[in-house]
Amino acid sequence: MTDPLEDENWRDRASCRDETIGPEIFYPDKDDHPTIRRAKLICRTCPVSTECLTAAHENGEPFGIWGGYTPEEREIIRVANKLPVRRPPDIFPHGTAAGYARHRRDKSTPCRSCVTAHTVDRREWKQRNATEKAADHAS
Ligand code: SF4
Ligand SMILES: [Zn+2]
Repeated sequence: MTDPLEDENWRDRASCRDETIGPEIFYPDKDDHPTIRRAKLICRTCPVSTECLTAAHENGEPFGIWGGYTPEEREIIRVANKLPVRRPPDIFPHGTAAGYARHRRDKSTPCRSCVTAHTVDRREWKQRNATEKAADHAS
């Protein structure tokens, strides 16, 4: 395994880069167990899940499923492995669907670039669903 901080390219091999998977499922509500399960299933087949988990620990990532683990599970892993507490870098992912989700969590008003990213994301998601449904009907 390469050091994720030195080899940022691991993200290129991530299973969640698959265009048919929306980023939203990796940021489920805490009690949305079906979505959490779906995200974990994808992570389980991901070739860079170790790098992903390490990066989440290094960055003190407080939200989302990383390496197949929820924030609560990562905290258990952190304590068990005596890893230091890290603070997330204060970079707000504006202009992304994750940024929009973070606005919602922070209860801040989403900025325009985040709203745009979210809208595009939703539209693509709906189109994918519609295409899949049409394919189901056709078969
Ligand atoms: S482990 Fe999961 S969240 Fe991390 S890169 Fe792989 S698929 Fe994405
Ligand atoms: Zn924003």
